[in-house]
Amino acid sequence: MGKTSKDKRDIYYRLAKEEGWRARSAFKLLQINEEHDIFSGVTRAVDLCAAPGSWSQVLTKKLHENTKNIDKVKIVAVDLQVMAALPGVIQIQGDITKLSTANSIIKEFQGNKADLVVCDGAPDVTGLHDIDEYVQSQLLLAALNIATHVLKDGGVFVAKIFRGKDVTLLYSQLKQFFEFVTVSKPRSSRNSSIEAFVVCQNYKPPEGYVPNMVNPLLDHQYCDFNQFTGVNRFIVPFNACGDLSAYDSDKSYPLLLDGQTSYEYKEPVQGPINPPYKDVLEKTKNLQL
Ligand code: SAM
Repeated sequence: MGKTSKDKRDIYYRLAKEEGWRARSAFKLLQINEEHDIFSGVTRAVDLCAAPGSWSQVLTKKLHENTKNIDKVKIVAVDLQVMAALPGVIQIQGDITKLSTANSIIKEFQGNKADLVVCDGAPDVTGLHDIDEYVQSQLLLAALNIATHVLKDGGVFVAKIFRGKDVTLLYSQLKQFFEFVTVSKPRSSRNSSIEAFVVCQNYKPPEGYVPNMVNPLLDHQYCDFNQFTGVNRFIVPFNACGDLSAYDSDKSYPLLLDGQTSYEYKEPVQGPINPPYKDVLEKTKNLQL
């Protein structure tokens, strides 16, 4: 590949270098803002999954446009990877699925809350679409959980989402916490990619909601469930059906049931068509095994 072939192939890659952005992703956040005005009045922001740092660069530019007082601007960037320093950006090297990371962010805000949380997190893609979508959704839920710890009421949350087949479930989960949930596909995001961005506005958690980090798989322990109370604990109605006089499926019964005087064995109505053990049975019959 020639030195300029990527520049020819990817206009945003080229523009990022020309304009001094660390990654072409900067244009995604800028284009989301053109549509949704996400930086309006924002002076405190969290950039989750921030490396190499182009979204933090955009935040630095936009937040400083909002106030002349540089002390009012606070940007906290988090990533698993080490990120080269950016003036005015506090960096935390950590995993966004961990409560300890949420706590480190809270500490940096010293009792204040963030106006905006953004997350461009992407796991290493395996190429197995179902797995990639699932892991991405776990990352999104981790980012949402962090947002519930640090975001002010009325705040904005923007995060990468894979528009896979189960995406509506994620939209409904986000809708529990935000008045407006929109999906945005910036022009700088390739059409061939299933990535898009959820733009969630007006943070309004359910009354009594206690932020937690339990949703993501990585930290999950089944015994954790019982610690939830109030609106945090959704109890699904359970219903046992069938008359009490019906047979109990866990019990053994004699071959002759009440009122019967003889028993006749009957073949199953439809046996398995091609069971995995068929081959072994054939070979056993022919004494090959
Ligand atoms: N927005 C960035 C920018 O503009 O430079 C690009 C982000 S890059 C597409 C995705 C990042 O997600 C990677 O740097 C990766 O290390 C990070 N990441 C993935 N899983 C993470 C996790 N569990 N915690 C923190 N960061 C994570």
